[in-house]
Amino acid sequence: MVLLGPPGAGKGTQAKLLEQEFGAVQISTGDILRKAVADQSPLGKQAEDYIKRGALVPDDLITNLIAERLQQADCAQGFLLDGFPRTIPQAESLDALLMKLALSLNGVLSVQVPRAVIIERLAGRRTCKNCGALCHTVFDPPKQDGVCDRCGGELFQREDDKEETIANRLTVYDGQTAPLVDYYRRQGILREIDGVGSIEEIRSRIKKALGGIAT
Ligand code: AMP
Repeated sequence: MVLLGPPGAGKGTQAKLLEQEFGAVQISTGDILRKAVADQSPLGKQAEDYIKRGALVPDDLITNLIAERLQQADCAQGFLLDGFPRTIPQAESLDALLMKLALSLNGVLSVQVPRAVIIERLAGRRTCKNCGALCHTVFDPPKQDGVCDRCGGELFQREDDKEETIANRLTVYDGQTAPLVDYYRRQGILREIDGVGSIEEIRSRIKKALGGIAT
């Protein structure tokens, strides 16, 4: 499955819940790239500047990364693509790759959230340095300021969740990623989800939408 939606739509949060429920593995290209940057691997060095600016990393880097990742053993149970594809050429490469692997998408969930809500969510989003758990300073605050409820790790604000970069990421989304909604609608596999509400409300809408998809 593909989870589609602007930054801050809740894709990562919902992907983690779906992962627990269905055993399909979450593949977040953003998480993979951030780890590569932290490790200063060759991929990380190439991607770092794009991520800092809120721009997209070149398609060929990402499609190679996905081609390798989808062939790893843990994907045999199914996978949830979170943050990929993000451009029409990436979606076309994914179609070609899936065909080669004799796989197909069960569905594409498009999570829709108004701009004002996105900005509120991104500005308060915090990530655990240790386990990657997400929380929010207002909507899902940790018990202790700056400390992850799940593992006690340190919470931090992503560099690209700061105000100037958020604006750039949203412009990039409108120009390059939003056209994917129509791309998948034409394929007949798009499910539109209202992404406003509590984590639990959105989770239950997704479950309802998945009722119409073979999981
Ligand atoms: P995310 O965590 O999904 O918001 O991704 C963070 C950043 O990683 C993005 O702003 C891009 O710079 C880069 N990135 C993640 N996924 C992709 C992708 N599919 N194509 C290009 N760049 C990506």
